Amino acid sequence: MATRGMLRALAKRTLSQFSVSNSISRSISTLVLAEHEGGSVKAPSVSAVEAAKLLGEENSITMLLAGSGSSLQEAAEHAASCHPSVSQVLVADSDAFAYPLAEPWAKLVHLVQQRDDYSHVVAASSSFGKNILPRAAALLDVSPITDVTDISGSHQFVRPIYAGNALCTVRYSGTTPCMLTIRATSFPVTPDSADSKSNVASISQVDLSTFDKDSIGKSRYVKLTSEDTERPDLGNARIVVTGGRGLKSADNFKMLEKLAEKLGAAVGATRAAVDASFVPNELQVGQTGKIVAPELYLAFGVSGAIQHIAGMRDSKIIVAVNKDADAPIFQVADYGLVGDLFEVIPELLEKLPEKK
Ligand SMILES: Cc1cc2nc3c(=O)[nH]c(=O)nc-3n(C[C@H](O)[C@H](O)[C@H](O)COP(=O)(O)OP(=O)(O)OC[C@H]3O[C@@H](n4cnc5c(N)ncnc54)[C@H](O)[C@@H]3O)c2cc1C
Repeated sequence: MATRGMLRALAKRTLSQFSVSNSISRSISTLVLAEHEGGSVKAPSVSAVEAAKLLGEENSITMLLAGSGSSLQEAAEHAASCHPSVSQVLVADSDAFAYPLAEPWAKLVHLVQQRDDYSHVVAASSSFGKNILPRAAALLDVSPITDVTDISGSHQFVRPIYAGNALCTVRYSGTTPCMLTIRATSFPVTPDSADSKSNVASISQVDLSTFDKDSIGKSRYVKLTSEDTERPDLGNARIVVTGGRGLKSADNFKMLEKLAEKLGAAVGATRAAVDASFVPNELQVGQTGKIVAPELYLAFGVSGAIQHIAGMRDSKIIVAVNKDADAPIFQVADYGLVGDLFEVIPELLEKLPEKK
């Protein structure tokens, strides 16, 4: 659609440029903060390595994992072979890291940085990274650059502003380390890069003898609640089926869940749908929810508010069904159908084959 092209052109225009420093000549070494679960490094952390690769050719990349128990060691082994650019894996094994709380993690980053003096520290812009990295940056007295979507040099980055309507090129001129959170969807890992068995990084333990875990007690882990579902993770799914306020009730969302099951898709929602308690908060897509960029994004009863678009505009193909022909979602949609979702979804359910 022409409007989509215009939006993209507008977004590509550099709105502001902060140019301050001279070229930085020191060599590059990057610490990537890795989130892991069930003995594997999570995909967004592997994307953080992919992003780190772009900081410079001679970049020595270290992944830092923290936790306790056997799943940590399994995750460390996965980290060592998850991307050929990783040259070292550091493992901090302590009860203090049994849960990924920001306070102990930030102290750990501070400790490792004081010891190894990395030029860059990178984390994915997930809840994990957004929670830890700014706190670690405060301890290290540097200003982090968040939500980076492109890297054009060791100290020059692109990040969205105005809910993604413009992109800002930022040159970092502060002291080391230069700390970044990156949008994982902007740094996809190619299958060739992932799970490289040819280059297995060395694994070493972080010396925690000087780590004072008693001085960290401002927050404590209570419990984890999450949807018990076999559907793919919203952040990494190839297909996302999203419902908005137009679905009208939590019960009607079940229709969308059935559709997602048939398509092997993840379910997403607008903030209006979340606020109306149709679905839990973790399904929210948008500026204050998850950022997704699937191959196919299907939006039903979604108006297309700017804050929602901010979270899905990079999807490869966007399909929208809305009964209002003037709904802004049609401006970003590749395929639009003006129609009643209560007729369209049952028809889709009827015509789509069962998932094998
Ligand atoms: C600071 C801030 C942050 C925000 N962050 C987010 C965010 O992260 N994510 C987000 O989504 N929103 C966010 N919002 C809210 C956002 O502004 C919108 O209010 C919200 O996205 C609207 O959700 P909606 O499209 O479901 O609802 P509505 O805007 O009410 O749209 C419902 C749509 O459904 C259509 N419809 C109704 N019935 C049918 C039917 N039977 N068949 C077909 N179509 C139908 C209507 O025509 C309408 O277009 C944020 C707002 C603010 C101020």
